[in-house]
Amino acid sequence: MNKFPRSAYVHIPFCHRRCFYCDFAVIPLGNKVETLQGYGSKTVREYLHFLYKEILSIKQKGTLSTIYVGGGTPSILDPKQIKELIDLFKENYGIDYGAEITMEVDPASFNKDDLYGFINAGINRFSLGVQSFNNQILQKSGRRHLREDAEKSCLWLKGVHDSGLIKSWSLDLIQNLPLSGFKEWQNDLEKAISFSPPHMSIYDLNIEDGTVFKKLVNLGKLILPSDKEALRNSESTHLILNNSGYSRYEISNYCLPGHQSRHNRVYWSGLGWWSFGQGSTSSPWGEKLTRPRISKEYKEWVIRQCELNLDSSLINKDFVYKELDEKIMLGLRLKEGIDIYKLLKEQNWETKKFESNFSKLLKEWNRFLESGLLVRKGNRLFLSDPKGMELSNQILISMFQWWDEIN
Ligand code: SF4
Repeated sequence: MNKFPRSAYVHIPFCHRRCFYCDFAVIPLGNKVETLQGYGSKTVREYLHFLYKEILSIKQKGTLSTIYVGGGTPSILDPKQIKELIDLFKENYGIDYGAEITMEVDPASFNKDDLYGFINAGINRFSLGVQSFNNQILQKSGRRHLREDAEKSCLWLKGVHDSGLIKSWSLDLIQNLPLSGFKEWQNDLEKAISFSPPHMSIYDLNIEDGTVFKKLVNLGKLILPSDKEALRNSESTHLILNNSGYSRYEISNYCLPGHQSRHNRVYWSGLGWWSFGQGSTSSPWGEKLTRPRISKEYKEWVIRQCELNLDSSLINKDFVYKELDEKIMLGLRLKEGIDIYKLLKEQNWETKKFESNFSKLLKEWNRFLESGLLVRKGNRLFLSDPKGMELSNQILISMFQWWDEIN
């Protein structure tokens, strides 16, 4: 067994501008993005300098089997910068033959030449943030791209996938954006499927603090699909994707056979991962470490961590496991669910405590088993699809209450 994390996430925080629903750690660069004042600017070069410093600060590491370059909008970078990044991992960590190397791309932030440049740099899987194909919805959500940009990007990705230049690609949509009623959502799904993406992520819109959407909600000016419409949308997602050969392997993720995201499974299954860049969260040995979200603070943090010898602070001396409630929450997101007996056994409770906690949880969940939201096969518990997946919050809330009660 490799004792070091096999996966690395890299955060590239730059975007053209902030979308109205987004609360990520991003740095909007404005319209100069595609010029040397954008990707080649002092801001970007300085950030990459600290990012590389952080990557190099880990001294004891093993080869990587997945890398995920996310953001932000990594496709704002020049292919040469992406190559520099991948080469840094190659030379200092090693990358397994057959590793999955994903990069997030945003329509209208790259052209066909860039795409070939990213592939030559070593990227073999792309995740395209389409969100919607409807220009009105895109505009209302503060997205910069148009339907035409998204269609063009899909065709390029389909082309490089069909010709075997990349292993896979994902098309990402957001469900329940403003103006996205039942008809609009059906159109978005059908349009997406017409490009045969091997993987699709369907995220539900969340209204986060500090976003334009949150301000509009507070002012009563954001018209979102009603709860009834939202449920109808979710049900149609399941139906349309299932009928088109996609299977749901996680609450927000669907794929054709053989195209699950290996990198994301690492997060959900509780294995360790490295993470680099401002605002990103690593969990190399079970304990989570989040970097500052503000550029200046992130740079100071990198300097301090290097001085303190970051490597020794994260080396596998004391395994700190994820809390049980988090393991259950992440495990239940997956189609295969959790082996509840095994998870509880890992707590090393003495027999009486184990039996009492185990039966309290099962008692709590009995109503969900009876109503069909949760399914039990032996000791394995999983959410039914689509009912349990859509209403998973109810089950999680009761689990968190159980966890609070027994602690
Ligand atoms: S492009 Fe993505 S990361 Fe950037 S602001 Fe929009 S949603 Fe956020």
